[in-house]
Amino acid sequence: MAGFLVPRAWNGTGKRCWAAALVLALAGQGCSARSHPSAIRPAHSNRSIRDVRVLLTTARQDVRIRAAGGYQVRDPRGRVIASGDGRRWVPLGAGPGTLPGNAAADTSWVEVVPTTSALIEVSRRTEHEWSPTRRYAGTLRLIPDGAGAVRVINVVDVESYVAGVLPTEIYANFHTEAFRAQAIVTRTYCLYLMSTRAQAGYDLTAGEGAQVYGGMADTAAHRQAVAAARDTRGLVCTWSSPTGERVFCTYFSSACGGGTQSAGRDDPQHDVPPLAGGVRCDYCRIAKGEAYRWSSRSVSAQEAMERIARRYSEAKKLGGLRSVNLTRESAGGHIQEVRLEGTTGRSLTLRGENFRLAVGGRLMRSANCDVRFDGKSVVFENGKGFGHGMGLCQWGMEGQARQGRTAAEILRFYYPESHISRAY
Ligand SMILES: [Zn+2]
Repeated sequence: MAGFLVPRAWNGTGKRCWAAALVLALAGQGCSARSHPSAIRPAHSNRSIRDVRVLLTTARQDVRIRAAGGYQVRDPRGRVIASGDGRRWVPLGAGPGTLPGNAAADTSWVEVVPTTSALIEVSRRTEHEWSPTRRYAGTLRLIPDGAGAVRVINVVDVESYVAGVLPTEIYANFHTEAFRAQAIVTRTYCLYLMSTRAQAGYDLTAGEGAQVYGGMADTAAHRQAVAAARDTRGLVCTWSSPTGERVFCTYFSSACGGGTQSAGRDDPQHDVPPLAGGVRCDYCRIAKGEAYRWSSRSVSAQEAMERIARRYSEAKKLGGLRSVNLTRESAGGHIQEVRLEGTTGRSLTLRGENFRLAVGGRLMRSANCDVRFDGKSVVFENGKGFGHGMGLCQWGMEGQARQGRTAAEILRFYYPESHISRAY
């Protein structure tokens, strides 16, 4: 089980003895935290742990950056190798100018560091126009991938990261306690990945593969997120492992639809009591749209097989689809394993969640449904919930918050046998 050790500090005890352990666990990737315009000031940046490295995108001549007020370009040793006034957009991509300052030839990566309190702006070209600018605290680390593209990584303090995730992961009108619970969950998820990916080039991505991170924004939702990060600063979810109190991968999804499923059933590293699943929840009944129950839908067998083959090339050996068999289900009704049989006589077995993501998470909105093959189409019926259904149920969190439960009570409900500890 990965995940760094976090001494229990509920009520603030034991604060000093574990600070050194955390610094050791997260040392080596340090980068100065920046200040921010007061209108969108995040919670206080912290210097007791390293900053998180978030992969924003991979630039292929379709990303541009600027930092109003100027910037320096530093090499991995921190030496200034270029600078700019920040007024012009700097394109990132193939060829000369791949990195600001034409630094690509003699360094493995560079860091763009604003010289004022201005945020770094990033814009991406989509088809014919540039996307709305996103703004980021901290610095941008640019790593050429050797094939002409550049990885764009935001190196930012954890609290600013937490505040940049919340507005994209929950609705702006969610209850204050829901914001606080999500802040603790988001911080824990971040610290868990930081502890497992210390040797990698980045800790997590900004997209749906991890937590959706939108950076800083001058909006009411972002201000509420900043307040929630500040109110819960340093707090994380932990469990009592045999070797001490540890963070775990705080999975969450939109709505469980009636109950959560295990994250550790097929993945030993997540086989911990808080992720065991089986939590009964009807609080998500308040969910908007089809998040609690979803209507039947179908996809042609050909289209389904093409989608699956894009992720699992073995599927091409099946030929056409002959049958879909649900070979394992959780007690709560989540499909845990699917076996596809093809016209060539071959078969392919997939985990339920992998099957769902392969056919499309908008089509098969959760693995808690019935799936059948009618000879022409794959049909999904009696769908419950939206998302993978592991860990925290976000609409359930909101439902409980409206009934007066605190963030701590909500988190203990969805992550059984977990505790709230202070990581810094
Ligand atoms: Zn629920």
